[in-house]
Amino acid sequence: MNQENHARGAEAISFAPVLKETVWGGERLYGEYGYGVPGRKVGECWAVSAHPNGDCVVREGAYRGRTLSQLWREEPQLFGGAAKGEFPLLVKVIDAADDLSIQVHPDDAYAAANENGSLGKTECWYILDCAQDARLVIGHNADTKKELADMVEQGRWKELIREVPVHKGDFVQINPGTVHAIKGGIMLLETQQSSDVTYRLYDYDRLSDGRPRPLHIRQSLDVITVPAAPADVKETASLPANELHLLIACRYYRVWKLALAGSFSMEQDCPFLLMSVVAGTCRMNGRPVGKGEHLLLPAGYGSVEIEGEAEIIFSSVNE
Ligand code: ZN
Repeated sequence: MNQENHARGAEAISFAPVLKETVWGGERLYGEYGYGVPGRKVGECWAVSAHPNGDCVVREGAYRGRTLSQLWREEPQLFGGAAKGEFPLLVKVIDAADDLSIQVHPDDAYAAANENGSLGKTECWYILDCAQDARLVIGHNADTKKELADMVEQGRWKELIREVPVHKGDFVQINPGTVHAIKGGIMLLETQQSSDVTYRLYDYDRLSDGRPRPLHIRQSLDVITVPAAPADVKETASLPANELHLLIACRYYRVWKLALAGSFSMEQDCPFLLMSVVAGTCRMNGRPVGKGEHLLLPAGYGSVEIEGEAEIIFSSVNE
């Protein structure tokens, strides 16, 4: 690796998103965010991902045409000291036109033992848009594993499932073992561990192509935390502008919000930093970055000067 390549390595990297058609998806990822082509129900945009189910390809610059998983393996200098195992994070934009199934994710230990060594899934949501009376499913009302199993077996879903109101700009952490569901009408940015393991507990008895989608009752009962922790919904809409606010620091990631109204500057001193512009437009070190664009700022990127009117979510690993 020569000096010139090192210097090129400090450029911001952008990826072509991977789009996922889903039964519950809508048309807003195309219509409002410009991802992909119209005419299909797209539920998920995998914006920054090295997962084998959707490995994003670099769009331009020195690394054009290579996937994020390749960069992670072949260009460790881009990721500081963080490059071991698999690229750890996955950033998605989700458009739920209809309710998602009620589900739960395993932790690392359960996934490693039962899902071919996969990572578990801790995730968090930043609500991009929703109706006035929107709600999320977070948690359940069973006090013991026995009560949980009985309620599931007897289909007492209304009694079991907890719903919480959410508003645009709210932020929620979803730990493994938390029963959860995104309800119709909600758009959100998800930052999560790079994992695709979901256990479906209940699908509202819906049919997909004439058949119910498979449920994973045994695995769900194995991994659901009992009793459930209270949902931790943070309001962020009123946080002051032009300051970086840490929304969560957990074992797997840190996530920050910046409401930009004018200018802001900082040093990129993380192993790598993911930058998602979720509203408005800005210039980052002179480069225009619009709503729906996601950049990876590699290790050693240095000073970041941002100007404009925009809402930006940043994420990185927790070293
Ligand atoms: Zn989930």
